[in-house]
Amino acid sequence: MGISIPIADITGEFTTKSATWLAHDPGQDGHTWPFNWIWKVDTMPKIKIFLWQLFQNALPVKGTLFRRGCRLDLQCPICLNDMETINHLFSTCSLTTAVWDWARQHHWLSHPPPITQSRDWLLDFQNYVLVYSKKMLQRITFLLWSIWKACNAMIFNNEIFHPLRCLIRAKKIKCRVENSNLYVG
Ligand SMILES: [Zn+2]
Repeated sequence: MGISIPIADITGEFTTKSATWLAHDPGQDGHTWPFNWIWKVDTMPKIKIFLWQLFQNALPVKGTLFRRGCRLDLQCPICLNDMETINHLFSTCSLTTAVWDWARQHHWLSHPPPITQSRDWLLDFQNYVLVYSKKMLQRITFLLWSIWKACNAMIFNNEIFHPLRCLIRAKKIKCRVENSNLYVG
């Protein structure tokens, strides 16, 4: 599809509703966006917007900002060992890999986590979607959000990136979502 960055709706407000409408736009080539499943994940609106940005390849990681003309240091702030791209941050960074490893060790994920050495993690993620259950996809999205939050806390608050804490945060989000469903139900 032709849309790559979040934009405001006609009132100037960027809302989940406007994001949903944009994501469902089949685009000029007639193909449906392959990540429409994110709108069905049982989670908070802010996480859905994060997922939308992520799977549009529009999350403001350094590699993306650099492609858009920002001249900045591209080093991954977590491992200091590679360029910070979406591929690297959510898949191949050594500390991110440790987050996925913890999730497997805690039996929080029943299938291999979405890690790939290929250059196009987003493309590969489409294949993972085919094998993961709805429950697994929900857990993976919580882990992705936790990694993103921990990365930002490291950059803006000088916090240390702890892989196990990322898993704990994801588990807490799951509890929060389930509790809010109890109240609604
Ligand atoms: Zn890294």
